[in-house]
This record gives sequence, C-alpha cells and structure tokens, in this order.
Amino acid sequence: MSGKVYIVGAGPGAADLLTLRAATVLRAAQIVLHDDLVPQEILDLCLPSAQIINVGKRCGSRSRSQEQINALMVWHARETQSQTIVRLKSGDPAVFGRLGEELDALRRARVEFEIVPGVTAASAAAASAKITLTDRRAASALVVVTAHSSRNASLSETVEPARSTYAIYMPGPDYSKTVQGLLESGHEPTTPCAVVSNAGRVNEEVRHLTLHELKSANGIPAPAVLIVGEVAVEHLPRRHGDVLSKVSSEARDPYHHDRLPIHPALG
Ligand code: SAH
Repeated sequence: MSGKVYIVGAGPGAADLLTLRAATVLRAAQIVLHDDLVPQEILDLCLPSAQIINVGKRCGSRSRSQEQINALMVWHARETQSQTIVRLKSGDPAVFGRLGEELDALRRARVEFEIVPGVTAASAAAASAKITLTDRRAASALVVVTAHSSRNASLSETVEPARSTYAIYMPGPDYSKTVQGLLESGHEPTTPCAVVSNAGRVNEEVRHLTLHELKSANGIPAPAVLIVGEVAVEHLPRRHGDVLSKVSSEARDPYHHDRLPIHPALG
C-alpha cells in the first residue's frame, strides 16, 4: 500500500504558531523532508525513529533540486513501507513555496496527499508589527507578491487582474454583486475562481467555476473565501494509464540504489 504525503505548513518559526493538525501529523511521520527555515524546536516534535531530511536550498553539498525533492516524496510514498511522509515547509506551504511543482509530481504519480495550512509570514509579520493588513480605512486589497516580481515589473503590471490572484474574504451573500465589481475592475467573465466554504473544517466545500457561473450560483455556505485568478482552475485527476510513463527513473529510485551499495540515508 502506498504512503500518504502531508504537505505541512510550519508557520513562521515559533513552535506554538504551528497548528495542532501539523503537530499531530509530525508526531506520526516516519519521513520528514523539510526546508531550511524550519526550526529545530519544531523538528523535535517528530518521533525519535523518524528519518528527518533537510532538503533546503542552503545546506551546502546536500542541497537538492526541486526535481530531486519531488522524486524523494514520490519514492518514499510508493517504494518504501512509510505510511506518513511529511513535506514540511515554512509559513504556509501554498505561499511562495513551489508547491505547484510538488503537487504536479504527486498527482502524476497518483500519490495520495493532503495539505495542512500554516500561518504565512505576512500574517505573522503584521501581528509582530501590530498592524492590520486590510484596515478598511486605508486598504481595500491584499495582493501577495515577491520583491523579485515587484522589481521586474511596474506595480500596475504586477496587480493587473489577469496576472493576479485575489483572495476575497466575505464574498457573499450577494455573489452577483461581487462578480459585477470584479468584471468592472477588468476581469474577464471566463476568469476561473474557487469559492471555499468552511475551509479546513469537516464540512468544507469547494466549488470551481468561472466568474460568469458564479454570478448566478446559489446555496454557497458561509463563511467562505473567494479566490479569483488563473490559479483557481480545478485540477482533475489524471487518467490511470498516464501514470507510470510520467514517473521518471529518478522518481522511482531517487537514491540510485542501482548504483549505490548502501542506502545513502543510512550512510
Ligand atoms: N511559505 C512561506 C514563505 C516562503 S518564501 C510563508 O507562507 O510564509 C520565504 C520568505 O518568507 C522569506 O524570504 C521571508 O521573506 C518570508 N518569511 C518566512 N518566515 C518568515 C518570518 N518568520 N518572518 C518574516 N518573514 C518570513
């Protein structure tokens, strides 16, 4: 039976800003693949028997490419006895964490996965600075960008609707009005969106639609967040036969057992 990969947000670095769900998964993990920014205090929650591997970019000769990290996750899930594999990332794994590539690799290999969100750096930073990111008297939008993209494009290009993700809180109950506002601000009616009710709770509900479809949608439970932009398009499961042909030989055997006399993780 294949193992399951949990992609876990470690939060901004304080162990007590880790979610309870993240702590539970970490305590059950047999394999933990973590980034540099994750502090030892959080790794100390793992079982003494867990195999903990730093796959961070700044760990000298052992640094691994994104392709190798993808391969390690897939290999541990498919080719070992490990049932719980944790990919531990700082902050929230879905914010500037190269999560897209990792999810593609897991989907291609048909490895079961779950994402455990974390407190993202922007939230932690705002709390530290005792400010609110969306004080209604001063700000009406939150667009999350890297310095890299803000240096390489003018800000108006960066926040151009077609190239931006908008996370819209309190989008209902009048979704048609919300959609109307988005269309007037330059979004196309075909723009994908995802409306997520009760995110992270047992009764969560996700709908993928276009803005045009959302305009006449009803029965969307509150509380909900509306995510608008190309990133919100639904990823359907792939057809069965696609799988093995797309798993590279490295993904099948990232430790190169065929070339190495011993398991390098033990060496
Ligand atoms: N997924 C992470 C971001 C990864 S990109 C998140 O959601 O927070 C890494 C960048 O996040 C760092 O270069 C830094 O800009 C920021 N970052 C991460 N942890 C931080 C912290 N505790 N305080 C301030 N910035 C932090």
